[in-house]
Amino acid sequence: MESYRRELEELSRRGMLRSLRTLAGAQGPHVRLDGREVLLLCSNNYLGLAGHPRLARAAAEAALEFGTGSGASRLVSGSLALHEELEARIAAFKGTEAALVFNSGYAANTGILQGLAGPDDLIFSDALNHASIIDGCRLSRARTLVYPHGDVDALEALMLRERPARRGRWFIVTDGVFSMDGDLAPLAALAELKERHDALLMVDDAHGTGVLGDTGRGSGEASGCLARIDLHMGTLGKALGGFGAFLAASRPVIDILINRSRPFIFSTSLPPAVLAAALVAFDLVDSTEGHARREMLRRNREVFAAPLRAAGLDLCGSVTQIVPIVTGAPRPTMRAAQTLLERGIFLQGIRPPTVPEGRCRLRATVMSEHDPQELAAAAQTILDILREQS
Ligand code: PMP
Repeated sequence: MESYRRELEELSRRGMLRSLRTLAGAQGPHVRLDGREVLLLCSNNYLGLAGHPRLARAAAEAALEFGTGSGASRLVSGSLALHEELEARIAAFKGTEAALVFNSGYAANTGILQGLAGPDDLIFSDALNHASIIDGCRLSRARTLVYPHGDVDALEALMLRERPARRGRWFIVTDGVFSMDGDLAPLAALAELKERHDALLMVDDAHGTGVLGDTGRGSGEASGCLARIDLHMGTLGKALGGFGAFLAASRPVIDILINRSRPFIFSTSLPPAVLAAALVAFDLVDSTEGHARREMLRRNREVFAAPLRAAGLDLCGSVTQIVPIVTGAPRPTMRAAQTLLERGIFLQGIRPPTVPEGRCRLRATVMSEHDPQELAAAAQTILDILREQS
């Protein structure tokens, strides 16, 4: 215990200690934090579906009808009809032959890469990919080459270098929307490359699914190359307002994962309430209400980001509802986050290892349900605090 205490003290000394806060209330524009109402600027509930009465009702009804637990892994006690219905819905949504649900985005990324890639294979991975992709690459035991963030030329140079000694399958793996930067992967150019070099393109669209593109199909739709993506990973816990994740892909890919993916095989499957809520979430994303919510989100994002951009802040190339504001070192970042909280705005300061050294940031996420005036005021407060601190 003593060694852990010392380790914690050392983290605290360097301004790197992480701790948890307790929220009360659903994930709406405002929540109660330590008994006080604050503006929530760090939830991934982008379209407000996590508090939507239709999802809650579907979840409650499914729990009453089918119970609270799925009982076991699907290979042990079978699939529920709801698993199959949701997978058919997801495959249709992304335009693939099949889909498979996972218990979280973390489980999906580790399970997809571990299940599809092996020691003879080669994974090309963007330098800013999510931690779960990095862990999936490790679990796969495939050789992994990290290419500079979004740099298609550097990636092609790596591919050309590796081509003469090629043995197994090649994968290009990228976030669609980068979770700490809010920028987009150059998907159309990556699709060109994967076609030229006979690789599979995997896109983690945790932050794009439901949000980006005219119909919410995600970053692939926004980039005009949805059908060229081989492996569409997405999550159900962000814009879709629930919990869990999926891969949409060809039938053989899904069948191999059912046979080889350890997080799928060795874990109890998603329960009925979660599956039923997700089905309604896809209906909503496809409805005029979903369209209107996407429009509100886009408008809100601009209302919040425009003054920050105009003030010359470094927003990491963000073009989405994830708006980071680079602040540099850990201590001033955490101090700014604390001052913001005292002024009624809740967002997180992000430090290494989540982001590179020297690139600490305040990371704000905008929701469709935010009031534009409150967002404009929050942007002004951020500007004031950063000026006061400089
Ligand atoms: N991929 C990305 C890009 C993410 O941002 C996250 C979660 N923050 C995940 C995967 C993991 O998803 P989940 O929270 O469902 O485990």
